[in-house]
Amino acid sequence: MDLFEYQGKQFFAEYGMPISPGEIAFTVDEAVAAAERLGTPVMVKAQVHTGGRGKAGGVKFAASVDDVREHATNILGLDIKGHIVGRVWIEKASDIAEEYYASFTLDRSAKKHLGMLSAEGGVEIEQVAEDNPDAIAKIWVDPVDGLTEAACRQWVAAANLPDAAVEGTVAILQKLYTAYVEGDADLVEINPLILTPGGVVHVLDAKVTLDSNSVYRHPDYEQFDETQTRDEREEAAHEKGLQYVGLEGSVGVIANGAGLAMSTVDIVNQVGGRPANFLDIGGGSNAEVMAGALEVINNDPDVKAIFINIFGGITKGEEVANGIIEALQRVDIGAPIVIRLDGTNAEEGREILQPHLNDKLIMEPTMVSAAERVVALAK
Ligand code: GDP
Ligand code: MG
Repeated sequence: MDLFEYQGKQFFAEYGMPISPGEIAFTVDEAVAAAERLGTPVMVKAQVHTGGRGKAGGVKFAASVDDVREHATNILGLDIKGHIVGRVWIEKASDIAEEYYASFTLDRSAKKHLGMLSAEGGVEIEQVAEDNPDAIAKIWVDPVDGLTEAACRQWVAAANLPDAAVEGTVAILQKLYTAYVEGDADLVEINPLILTPGGVVHVLDAKVTLDSNSVYRHPDYEQFDETQTRDEREEAAHEKGLQYVGLEGSVGVIANGAGLAMSTVDIVNQVGGRPANFLDIGGGSNAEVMAGALEVINNDPDVKAIFINIFGGITKGEEVANGIIEALQRVDIGAPIVIRLDGTNAEEGREILQPHLNDKLIMEPTMVSAAERVVALAK
């Protein structure tokens, strides 16, 4: 779940991090009213789920209320990398002496949290990583131990920040780590973290991705669900409660279990095809879920063939087969379907499917042969 900058800042503030006062505005008039309440100068900042807003003209300094009107007019409706700006964050402007970068994310291969800190913030960190990787100080934090103050100090020292920035940065990074862990975030990023001419360290931007599987622990995260950007396909799948990610290819993928769905995407690629999506229908593959999945895929005009890859575990082959047949009666599918059915009672399931097979409903004995078949059909 991606948060807008202002939501990320509110999230940070709950963990005691210093952010600037600001207000959200959906219209130019609201932006002007917010600036009048806050007092100029302010920043007018596009709220979209993508970075690089500054470069795209989505972050502007406004010295006066007239400037706010002008900038809000230009920024609302602006297209930033395919994201149309629907709201702006009006924030009290800060004076900047220096800009830093700080983040935490999970390093899966190390099985640890990875913290990154750089004195060269503000710009794209990918660029810093490429041109001057030594300018990024990294720390790997064992989740069992957590981030100790001593380790945090060592890490900050390695980043070579000026003395004036050290204490404030140590304090913010410890809070950032707490927010990341207790808030069940996948990513927390501050770019820039600034040092003001007055020697105060302050949060000026916030990029936060929360783990959507943690909503049961944080009922207040439901508010963020409403502001997610999804394409039409993803929106339809979300309404049906399906785990769906839209991709660019022509092979529709339906599988049960995230691992198998991922493997299915992989094997389609491996045999030379391009998956149109990732779709996990979960453990139970009843007609309801299968019909919903087929509907979502059927509405994707790029899909030229569909791969249903089911491995029966607790769900038995007969139930899967009956589910598919019933679903096909409910949804009128344009593209040919290739089924691979294996696992518990696969034989029984295949027998049920057998009389329904034709040149648009094909069964293959293995995952590889099914992938090859569906990719050939999609071409
Ligand atoms: P991004 O481009 O999407 O990363 O948006 P940011 O929020 O990081 O803003 C981009 C740049 O605008 C920052 O790196 C700053 O240089 C500048 N900026 C943002 N807020 C302020 C502010 O309050 N005062 C000043 N002077 N510059 C700001
Ligand atoms: Mg930024």
